[in-house]
Amino acid sequence: MPELPEIWLRAHEIDHALSGRTIVGAHFAQPKCLNLPPDLFERTIVGLTIRRAWPRGKWVFVDLQSHCLLLNLGMGGEVLLHAHGQALPDKLQAYLDLLDGAKLSVHFWWFGYLHLLARDALATHKMTAGLGPDPLAADFTPLTLASQLTGRRAIKSLLLDQTRIAGIGNMYSHDILYRAGLHPLRPANSLDSGEVEALWRAMREVLQEAIDLGGAHWEVDLHGRAGRYDLTCMQVAYKEGQPCPKCGTAVVKLKTGATAGFICPACQPLERPTDSSSPSP
Ligand SMILES: [Zn+2]
Repeated sequence: MPELPEIWLRAHEIDHALSGRTIVGAHFAQPKCLNLPPDLFERTIVGLTIRRAWPRGKWVFVDLQSHCLLLNLGMGGEVLLHAHGQALPDKLQAYLDLLDGAKLSVHFWWFGYLHLLARDALATHKMTAGLGPDPLAADFTPLTLASQLTGRRAIKSLLLDQTRIAGIGNMYSHDILYRAGLHPLRPANSLDSGEVEALWRAMREVLQEAIDLGGAHWEVDLHGRAGRYDLTCMQVAYKEGQPCPKCGTAVVKLKTGATAGFICPACQPLERPTDSSSPSP
């Protein structure tokens, strides 16, 4: 599933390659992914010019002046730019014709969304209006993170909750929690300020490293090139039984709510190590 790094990359690729280009046609093979009837979607989008694109959680926002196109790749998929005359892929849900003859195709592996909204309707778009803060934003500080870590919910479940923090999914959560030294089932409100700061740093490091490597290796960029963030880049994720890079303890796979987690049981204890050694009054 594409997470923040992949969406960040796709948005910046679209911004770089398509800003200033006008949409002259729209074709839909699967109207279920749209928020409007296909003919209305087409009538509305044709003639609009792409001004810029940016990421927000697991969504790519494309600014079309009067409107905004919102793209969510669901469990994964490809957004591909095809030069004039280049063949389209066999499988796709939608494609747009651009004025210079190029085409932008969208293929979801398993449900995704293509929503077109008037600019003033963005604030009430149910699927994006409630997204939490962006962990890579310049104004996302340890204090911003602390303000989201309320309640006794498990820290991992909270990290995956898009209304608390936007963009993190299961895959990147394993190494984020490992680097922060946090057990995924620790209650969110049990973290002290040092642990919040470690989590804040780990989130930014892991996500930025994945961006720098072009995202997960099973996702491709606008030109079909695969990312380079693979198992060799991960420290404990998907490494059950292998030694922890810090202490050598075997990595354990455990159930974390609806998902599985990978942890080093020595580096990520469920109980805070300081709890038992607190000085007596
Ligand atoms: Zn360890």
